[in-house]
Amino acid sequence: MVVLTMDDRAPTYSRTKKTPIQEIRASLNTAVSTPFWLDQPQRPPVTPALLEDTTADLLVVGGGYCGLWTALIAKERNPQLDVVLIEGNEIGWAASGRNGGFCESSLTHGEENGRRHFTEDLPTLSRLAAQNFQDFQDTLVRYDIDAEYENTGLLTVATEEYQVAALKRASQEGGSSTRTFYDSRSIQTMMTSPVFRAGMFESDGIALVHPAKLVWGLKRACQQLGVRIFESTPAVKLRGESQCVTVETSTALIRSRKVALATNGFPSLLKRARFLTIPVYDYVLATRPLTRAQLDDIGWASRFGITDSSRQFHYYRLTSDNRIIWGGYDAIYHRGGKVRPAYDQRPATFETLADHFFITFPQLRGISFTHAWGGMIDMSTQFVAFHGLALGGRVAYSAGYTGLGVGATRFGAQVMLDLLSGHSTELTQLKMVRCKPVPIPPEPFAYPAIQLTRRAIDKSDANGGRDGLLLRSMELFGVGFDS
Ligand SMILES: Cc1cc2nc3c(=O)[nH]c(=O)nc-3n(C[C@H](O)[C@H](O)[C@H](O)COP(=O)(O)OP(=O)(O)OC[C@H]3O[C@@H](n4cnc5c(N)ncnc54)[C@H](O)[C@@H]3O)c2cc1C
Repeated sequence: MVVLTMDDRAPTYSRTKKTPIQEIRASLNTAVSTPFWLDQPQRPPVTPALLEDTTADLLVVGGGYCGLWTALIAKERNPQLDVVLIEGNEIGWAASGRNGGFCESSLTHGEENGRRHFTEDLPTLSRLAAQNFQDFQDTLVRYDIDAEYENTGLLTVATEEYQVAALKRASQEGGSSTRTFYDSRSIQTMMTSPVFRAGMFESDGIALVHPAKLVWGLKRACQQLGVRIFESTPAVKLRGESQCVTVETSTALIRSRKVALATNGFPSLLKRARFLTIPVYDYVLATRPLTRAQLDDIGWASRFGITDSSRQFHYYRLTSDNRIIWGGYDAIYHRGGKVRPAYDQRPATFETLADHFFITFPQLRGISFTHAWGGMIDMSTQFVAFHGLALGGRVAYSAGYTGLGVGATRFGAQVMLDLLSGHSTELTQLKMVRCKPVPIPPEPFAYPAIQLTRRAIDKSDANGGRDGLLLRSMELFGVGFDS
């Protein structure tokens, strides 16, 4: 077994490689670019595109989790409703089929962020979050969706000394009975890694799913309830008419009484929503399946998900065949703010991720990665989804989930349907629904501003978590950069 020793002064993770570069490249050289989750024999065939004009009571644009939940819940609320869902590409090809599969109950991108932006609504939000988490699970059972749902909990580890006290404090907050703190010695009974200095295990409100099986299961459930789904059907324009909204697709027109836009960080059909998100790319590796001996070497006996505590954090978990999914750290914004398939591959980030993997698990040096991919995240400046209405209340939109949309998109779907109902409900009264995040400046200002922020975040991580002037000022204005 190879053991790395820790230099206490240097940050554990940085862009400077600690593993020999030839070894990193060898571990990556057979990795395919298809996301592991989508590289499955049960990937369903693509449904045909819409070729003739049609009408609907509700048209959903976007076939990721948010759109599918919207269509599903709309049919559950009113089975008579004629619901059409159009997807520009293939259901689940984007974030919903390529994410880490961490399903967190939080609707506020974590407690701290919730306290920062929505203090007055916190008790309501935590009740709604718990309800949404339970309803999510119940839906999988109701429609027999095998999304490999595992209620595992989450281990958050400190990989730097300054992070230990914060984890300890978090584990004691509010006399929590679901959180356990592990010090430098006891953490090694949870997992064996030379970089773990402490950890906090949260047993409540965190599950793991197979992202693509979830999206495919939701598609099937929608079809069972009578939702008409058309793939390869991008919406290009919408306009309000007296009694309906007309949506122009590349092949036909749809006249619908109501429209729900679930298009994530793709260019919105509504001008007003375009400056509320930016596309940030997040990258992921999957190893080949670990043997029993390799699993024993790292001591990952329970199947909990793991994240670390730096601002640029990693997330990792096991698949059902015991591969490690290892993602995060770099959050890349490409100049011009475009969404492009070419951005799903970034060799420099894959090498950084592989280096960090071997720093964390030197026991696994020599293992190869079978899949390496990236995906677009719809970052909003509060890291929390925003929702709204347009065209006289006939069009709703929901986006901005910032890397935590597996569970929260189900809630966003309900918000859109409540907004479209025209009634005031508990959800439509939330500050999170009434107020929009601070917009992001357009190009050419966005790119340099984001590069400056990324550098400041790098510095903060290397500097014991101490934020410089830029990050402190941004905090003051309720603005942040994350994935
Ligand atoms: C690498 C990565 C890791 C992540 N890890 C996690 C995680 O572990 N946990 C977590 O909670 N979240 C995670 N996320 C975020 C999560 O995946 C998203 O928040 C969630 O999938 C968003 O769902 P969505 O339906 O809004 O978006 P999408 O899945 O992107 O779906 C939007 C769909 O709309 C379609 N579309 C766009 N414009 C049009 C148009 N004009 N006409 C027709 N169709 C259109 C697109 O083709 C796309 O299929 C991660 C994301 C990425 C990229």
